[in-house]
Amino acid sequence: MLRPRSPWPTRLALAALLLGLSLVSLLLWQRLLIAQQERVAERVGYQARSLARQLETSLHDQVDGLRRIALQWNHRGRMPKDEWVLDSRFALERFKGYQAIQWLGADLAMRWIEPLQGNEEALQVRLTPAHPNFNLAIQAKASGEPRFSNSFVLIQGGRGFILYTPLYIRDAQQERVFDGFLQGVFRVERLMDELLSHPDSRDFSVDLLEEGRSIYHHAQPDALDALQQEVPLQLLNNQNFALRLKPTEQLVQRLATPLPQVALGASLTISLLLVAALGLALANARRASALQAGNRRLSEELEQREKIEQVLRDSRERLQLVLDLTDSSHDGLFIIDPQNRDILHMNQATYSSLGYSAEAFRELLKQDPEQLLPGYYNWLDRVRQAQQDKLSSIFQQKMRRRDGSEQAAEISAQLVLVNGHEYLIGVTRDNSQRLQLEAQLQRLSQLDGLTGLYNRRFFDNQLNSEWRRLRRHGTSLTLLMLDIDYFKSYNDRLGHLAGDDALRQVSAVLPNSLQREGDSACRYGGEEFAIILADTGLEGGMHVASRIQQRLEALNLAHPASPLGRLTLSIGLAVAEPGSGESPDLLVAHCDRALYRAKHEGRNRICVWRDEE
Ligand code: GH3
Ligand code: MG
Ligand code: MG
Repeated sequence: MLRPRSPWPTRLALAALLLGLSLVSLLLWQRLLIAQQERVAERVGYQARSLARQLETSLHDQVDGLRRIALQWNHRGRMPKDEWVLDSRFALERFKGYQAIQWLGADLAMRWIEPLQGNEEALQVRLTPAHPNFNLAIQAKASGEPRFSNSFVLIQGGRGFILYTPLYIRDAQQERVFDGFLQGVFRVERLMDELLSHPDSRDFSVDLLEEGRSIYHHAQPDALDALQQEVPLQLLNNQNFALRLKPTEQLVQRLATPLPQVALGASLTISLLLVAALGLALANARRASALQAGNRRLSEELEQREKIEQVLRDSRERLQLVLDLTDSSHDGLFIIDPQNRDILHMNQATYSSLGYSAEAFRELLKQDPEQLLPGYYNWLDRVRQAQQDKLSSIFQQKMRRRDGSEQAAEISAQLVLVNGHEYLIGVTRDNSQRLQLEAQLQRLSQLDGLTGLYNRRFFDNQLNSEWRRLRRHGTSLTLLMLDIDYFKSYNDRLGHLAGDDALRQVSAVLPNSLQREGDSACRYGGEEFAIILADTGLEGGMHVASRIQQRLEALNLAHPASPLGRLTLSIGLAVAEPGSGESPDLLVAHCDRALYRAKHEGRNRICVWRDEE
C-alpha cells in the first residue's frame, strides 16, 4: 500500500517561495522608491530651475521700463523732469519691486528721485569711490551696458540692489557725452516678494544666496530639507546670486506617484495569490493523485476480488460436481461432527442404501445414533484409538436399515482436525454381498473341484477343530477312510475321463449317506475319501459306512476290470476320544491301518481299527 507523502516539504517550499517573492517585491518596491525619489529630485530640480528662469525673466521684463527711459534719454537728449517723472511712475506702477527710480548725474550726485517720499535721505547721496557700487557704476559707464549691483545697505535702511543704466546725451559737436545713471533701486525683500509672487514659487521655501550667504528667506511650513536644490541665478549681468530652493511636501506629493506602494501591494498580493494558487494546485494534485492511487487500489482489489470470486465459483462448481459425483457412488460418503453429529455432507448412498430420506437420516443420526449404527459411541472410541495406534481405519460394522434389518457395512473412518474442529470422514460400503462372496469363496476353497466334496485342507482343519471341540465336550469322534478298489485298472481300461466320471459318481454317494449336520465328507486324495463323524461312536460309524456300501451297491456302477464287476469301496473305521490324550494324526493312522486291512482282507468291506493292530 502506498504511504501518503508528507505535505510538509511542499509547505516549506511554498513558504520559501512566498518569502522569496516577498523579498523580490520589497526589492522592486525599493527600486521603484529610489527611482521615484530620483524622478522627484529631477522634477524638483526642473521646477527649481524653471523658477529661477522665471525670476530672471521677470526681472528682465520689469527693468525694461528703465531701459526704455534710458533709450529715449540717449536718443532724444536729456528728458524734462516732469516727463521723466511720468515715465518713472509708470514703471513703478508696473513693477512693485522698486524702492525708487533715480537719476544720478554725470557728477555722480543724486538729482531726481521718484518717489521722493520715503527716499528723501537719498537726495544727499553722491557716488564716491568709497561706495561699494562705485566700481560697478564705472564699469556700466565704460561699457554703456546696465549693471546690477550686489546687495548693500540702503541709505533708507535695509538691504537693496541698484541697477545702473548709463545715460548719454550729445554735445554741440554731436559727440556722445556721459550723462549719469538711471538707477533702479530695489529693496531685497520687496524685489524678491514681487518676483516670487508667481504661483510656482509657493511650492518652495526660497533662500536668495549671495556668494553663498542667504540674504533673503521665504519660508514654507512643510519644506523638505532633504530635497533642497541650489540653482544659480543670473540677475542681469550679476552672477553672484543663487537660489536655494526646498520643495514643499505638497509639491513632492504632487510629483510623486503611489506607484511603488501600489507595485509593492500588488506584487505582495500577486505573490500571495500565486503561492496560494500553487498550494491549492499542489494540494489538488496531491488529492488527485491520492484519489487516483485510491482508484487504482480499488480497481486492483476489484480485479482481485473478481478473480477470487471466479476461483470460488470454479471451486464451488467443482465442489458441487464432486458432491454430485459422490451421489453416483454406491458407497456412502459422509462428513460429520462426531460430537454433535451434525452432518456436513453425505452422499445419496449414505442414507438411501438404508432406506432413509436425507432428512430422516440426518434427524436420526442427531437424535439417536445408536439406532443407525449400533454401538456408535463405542465405535467412535475405536476409531479414535485405532487412529492413535496407527492401526487400520477400516471397520466392519453393522448398520440398521429403516425396516429394522441389519446391513453389514465396512466403514473406512478418519478423524481430521480442521481449524481446531474435529470432523469424521467416513466411507461406508454395503458389505453383505462381499461377505457372501467371501463365504462362497471360502466354501469353494474348502471344496474339491472334481467331486464337490470337501478337500484335503478342509479335512485337516475340520478334524483338528472338531477334535478340539469334542475334547471339551468329552464325546467321541469317528473317522472313515474310503478307497475305491482296483481303480487303477479302471482308468487303464476305460480311460482317465471315465475314471473322473466314476470318481464323481462314487463321491456323490458319500454326502447323501450322511445325516447329521456336523458330518463332513472329504476327498482325501486321488480315489481316497475321508468322513468325519462328530459325536459319533463305533456303532454310528458302522451305520454310516454300511449305508455307503449299500448305496454304492445299489448304484451298481460297472467296473469291467474288477473281479467284483462293479465299483466298490474298502472302508477303514477308527473311533477316538479326543479327551483321552490321543491326537488327530494318530486317529488318521489308525483309520489308515483299518483301511489297509480291508484291502488286504479282500476289498469291498468295512474294517474297524483294533487296538492290537
Ligand atoms: P486297490 O484295490 O489296491 O486300491 O487297487 P488300485 O488300483 O485302486 O490301486 P492304487 O490305489 O495303487 O491305484 C490308485 C489309482 O487310482 C491310480 C490312479 O490311476 C487312480 N486315480 C487316482 N486319482 C484319480 C483321479 O483323479 N482320476 C482318475 N481317473 N483316476 C485316479
Ligand atoms: Mg488308493
Ligand atoms: Mg484304490
